[in-house]
Amino acid sequence: MTTSINHFINGEETAGSGTETQPVYNPATGQVTGDLQLASTEDLNAAVAAARTAADTWADVSIAKRSAVLFKFRELLAANTAELAQIVTSEHGKVLSDAAGEIGRGLEVVEFACGISQSLKGDFSDQVATGIDVHSFRQPVGVVAGITPFNFPVMVPMWMAPVAIAAGNAFILKPSERDPSASLFMARLWKEAGLPDGVFNVVHGGKDAVDGLLTHPDVDAISFVGSTPIAKYVHETATAHGKRVQALGGAKNHAVVMPDADMDVAADHLTAAAFGSAGQRCMAISVAVAVGEAGDLVVDKLVQRAKDVKVSDGTDPSADMGPVITPASKSRVQKIVGEAESDGAAILVDGRDLVVEDHEEGFFVGPTLIDQVKTEMSAYEEEIFGPVLVVVRVDSLEEAIHLVNANPYGNGTAIFTSSGYSARTFTRRIQVGMVGVNVPLPVPVAWHSFGGWKDSLFGDHHIYGPDGIRFYTRAKAVTTRWPEVSEASGASFAFPSSE
Ligand code: NAD
Repeated sequence: MTTSINHFINGEETAGSGTETQPVYNPATGQVTGDLQLASTEDLNAAVAAARTAADTWADVSIAKRSAVLFKFRELLAANTAELAQIVTSEHGKVLSDAAGEIGRGLEVVEFACGISQSLKGDFSDQVATGIDVHSFRQPVGVVAGITPFNFPVMVPMWMAPVAIAAGNAFILKPSERDPSASLFMARLWKEAGLPDGVFNVVHGGKDAVDGLLTHPDVDAISFVGSTPIAKYVHETATAHGKRVQALGGAKNHAVVMPDADMDVAADHLTAAAFGSAGQRCMAISVAVAVGEAGDLVVDKLVQRAKDVKVSDGTDPSADMGPVITPASKSRVQKIVGEAESDGAAILVDGRDLVVEDHEEGFFVGPTLIDQVKTEMSAYEEEIFGPVLVVVRVDSLEEAIHLVNANPYGNGTAIFTSSGYSARTFTRRIQVGMVGVNVPLPVPVAWHSFGGWKDSLFGDHHIYGPDGIRFYTRAKAVTTRWPEVSEASGASFAFPSSE
């Protein structure tokens, strides 16, 4: 049975006026489960108009009342985690514990946004010149659109909406068309939390809907998370239309394993970071850079661990890993592994032909481990976004740093070592936005901001945390004089100085 997946505009679910729909699949079974309504231009305009009107009144609501809505939303999200996780798993495929984990990380950002009173405190300078004070504070930018990827249908929207809304903006979410139902569930929770109609809206669609938001004169800012070519396009198009833009792109995250690392710890972490969520995380480790004798030691341990990963329907409590998102993703993984094989790499664990019993139509690929990979191979150059870990062997930390820095992406990286000196050298010299020391997925907690360097981020601001507050607000500085009696003494044409 398929359900119609609607938009959420001005506090109401609506099928809109669009005539096109798109199927939504359960990737574990390959069955169509939903029929997604794609927004027409009228639907998009209705969402922007609702957000515009709501933004003007919401910005004037007191901080105390805004944060009360955030606190209520936080309680509702926590109470509904299990149901929301089921929705995520049914359309994304990740295992239920992983779906609950992403909701937990989203919840963390809601908690950060609950403290908006602290984050929005301004600055005041007394008596900057005789009888003159200056204060500066931040005001909302207005209407904000968030365009999000399939791989975190709850967490990534939560990187954006709670901070934007707490800061006094109205928000339009354009979720991924592959797993859109979680966004509707969250819209209902926002309404139940008491958020006024029009402050949080959801419109569905693909390129047309995105283009509509990027060029709409009443949208003030765009937060995007997705692949690098689209991030670049979004940044170029929306800035050309006068908008503030943060566009987070793809990744190829390297973990450097030093010979002095605890090899069991490194192998455990690499296995989870490479194959968790079927490798479909922007912070997944997809390249292990083994230094010197770490090579044979860690590869031996990785082989056994990769073979032990249990692949099944994400609702199976014993599953470690579910399917990939589409048949096209599965084919891409199979193709790139085949190219690595032809190019002379060693396929140590091969998940290309995995079939999961009773799920023969599901989009499954098993964990795949490839050794002896060279930087000119497609398995190294491309973001595979599947359960594939490639091993590149180098001779020194210096060579490892050079390798990571030469890669066009700069999202996340990690080093496994017992040497403080190696860790410090690596963290200082590496040209990557988020770095882990013996931590494989260094996703910053909500009160630090998240963002990569180079082709992993276009724009000036990282997302959530302090940078999120800066992105969703504009600064204003006010210079004030309140003389006791008139000080009129004729116009002075010299540039004002502080006296
Ligand atoms: P995607 O780029 O295909 O889609 C992201 C969004 O862009 C979706 O909402 C989609 O509808 C829209 N879109 C797709 N094609 C478009 C086009 N031609 N014009 C305009 N809009 C378009 O990404 P995806 O496959 O959904 O997600 C996986 C990618 O996201 C990976 O590259 C991953 O690394 C990246 N990602 C990055 C981060 C990060 O923090 N840097 C986080 C999560 C995912």
